[in-house]
This record gives sequence, C-alpha cells and structure tokens, in this order.
Amino acid sequence: MTKPPRTSLQRQQHALSSTEKQLAVLQGDAADFRLVPFQQKLEECGLYPLRPLPLEIFQVNVGKMCNQVCRHCHVDAGPDRKEIMTRETMQQCLDALDRHPSLRTVDLTGGAPEMNPHFRWFVEEIRKRNRQVIVRCNLTIIRANAKYHDLPYFYREHGVEVVSSLPFYTQDRTDRQRGDGVFADSIAALQQLNEAGYGKSGTGLVLNLVYNPAGAFMPPPQESLEREYRKALQERFGIVFNQLFAITNLPISRFLDFLLESGNYEAYMEKLCNAFNPAAAANVMCRNTISIGWDGWLYDCDFNQMLGLKADLPGIDHISAFDAEALSRRSIVVNQHCFGCTAGAGSSCGGSVA
Ligand code: SF4
Ligand code: SF4
Repeated sequence: MTKPPRTSLQRQQHALSSTEKQLAVLQGDAADFRLVPFQQKLEECGLYPLRPLPLEIFQVNVGKMCNQVCRHCHVDAGPDRKEIMTRETMQQCLDALDRHPSLRTVDLTGGAPEMNPHFRWFVEEIRKRNRQVIVRCNLTIIRANAKYHDLPYFYREHGVEVVSSLPFYTQDRTDRQRGDGVFADSIAALQQLNEAGYGKSGTGLVLNLVYNPAGAFMPPPQESLEREYRKALQERFGIVFNQLFAITNLPISRFLDFLLESGNYEAYMEKLCNAFNPAAAANVMCRNTISIGWDGWLYDCDFNQMLGLKADLPGIDHISAFDAEALSRRSIVVNQHCFGCTAGAGSSCGGSVA
C-alpha cells in the first residue's frame, strides 16, 4: 500500500470526496466494468429486500476528526475534518435510549471519538443508563496529547469495552497504512491498556484488536490470524488481548481511491463478488445495528453513512424522531460496496460473521 496522505480527500478537493462520484464508480456508471448487482446476489439467496432483525446496537459516529490520516480510511477522517457531534445531538441519542430500553449496546466510533469535546460526558451519561459502551479507539490518540494519557483509566472507571485497530503486528505494514511512528505509539498504548487491566483474564476489562488488510486482498481466516497476533505481541512486547476481529476493507473513500490509483479496483471487486457467501449475507451487521451520523441522521451502517445513503425512513430518518418500531419495518439500503461485508467469512465491526 502506498504511503498515507497528509490530508483528507475533502481538504484536497479530490473528486472522490463526493459521495455521488463514489457511487457512480461503484455502480460502473462511467466505465465498461460492471459487476453483478449486489441486489441480484441477495435475490438469488432469498434475502432481498434485506430486512432488519431485532435492533441491538446503536452505533454513534461522534465526528470525523482524527489524529491520523490512514490510507484505507472509509470515513476520510483526519485532523482537518471539523464535523463533530454536538451535545444537543448526543442528548437526542440519550433520549432515544431512554425511550428504548431494549437497546443494550452503544458503539462509539469516529474519526477518533475521544477528540469530540463532549466524549467523556457522553460515555458517563450512557453508563448511567446501564448500557454497554464500546469505543473504537485508534490507540495513538492515547499518546497524542497529555489530555488523553489517562484514557485507559477513564475507560476502566466506566467499564468501557475497547476495540482497537492494529492493522498488523509488525511496524512496516502498520506504518505503511497508518503513518510513520503509528506502530510504536500503538504498542505503547496497548501496554498502557494492559497496565490498567485491559485484556487480562479476571479483570472483565475487554480489549479486542482489529486487523485489516494492507492492500487489495481479503483478510486471512480470523482464528489463525488471532493465534499469530497473540504469539507475536506476547513474545515481543508482553501484550495480551481478548479477541482479534479480521475486517475486510470496503471500497469507499480513501480505500476506493487507493484501489483506483493502484489499478486494483476491478480485480478487488471481482474477488469480493466471487467470494459472495449467503451465510455471511444473512448475518451482515446492518440487520441488528443502526448507525447515527455526527449530525443526527440515521443510516443502516457506518459505510452507508460515508456514502450518504440514509436509512429508508422518509420523514423519520433523524435521531430526534427515533422510532425502533418504524425501523424494524424498513428495508436496508444496499449497493455494490456491500460485497465487502459478504465475501468469504464475512466482515462486520465485530469481525467475521459466518
Ligand atoms: S482509519 Fe480510523 S484512525 Fe485511521 S484516519 Fe480513519 S478514523 Fe482515523
Ligand atoms: S455495507 Fe452496510 S448495508 Fe451493506 S451489507 Fe455491509 S453493513 Fe449492510
């Protein structure tokens, strides 16, 4: 993979910062290359229209600001992104949780969610409501500035589950994807999390890691990769963790840009399409999750959010009008990027699904 960019596609005024442009590429509107429509694949296995299962996870994207500018980022996040969820919108999320006690898990993502100035208040308010909180922490944020150094202890105090991206257990592959020095800072942050009790048996403090491929290929099997990670991180750095999630890169935003720039786009999409797995399709994460954008709009997942594909709920597609009953009757919006979730063992925010 080529080096990460210094700024977001939006800051570069890159054509792919437009969601319309991304969708046009994915749908093959301006090229000879066309894949079988994802919808057709779902029809063939009796899953179209894709319907939700009981809603379990409330995934809140609290903003696009990040201390990193990773090459594969589907959010196009970075220090130059200013979109941040306000406290008012967070309060609307809390109100929705109050009205829907069956929603047990809140999954916080970004950008780097910790950079939202209301992040800690939001976590505390969710925990007061006795919901499980998962935070998608990029690790380096813990080392980025003195005001973040105590995050492992803040997480511990509030019983937050930490899911951390570590694209690989070696420096070269991690830094190539995420930037110079990211591996060293990630290892130091993982050691701090372990010191706070995260990943250690008997503490109940969960630390899961995320692998994602450093190029135009699908992840290897999650279980064998987890064994490799466990051995390498323990032997070289004394690091322990709970589970490894292997995630497929979806052809969105900066990863789409990488695929096109490197001439890998068509081959990658064909690989995903040929590996379509009906069992993975039946378990895609959008069936039990709802995604909330930084400005409160509702989406079927974080990927649809980044493509501007709002949930199909005309008139009630904002958190201020959140209605789980209406959500349960919607059809999930799918497009060609969905092949990334259904290839091989499948992929979700919790790793393989089949
Ligand atoms: S992949 Fe994660 S850490 Fe990297 S730029 Fe995107 S949001 Fe930030
Ligand atoms: S990209 Fe989103 S909508 Fe498409 S299958 Fe994956 S989770 Fe579902």
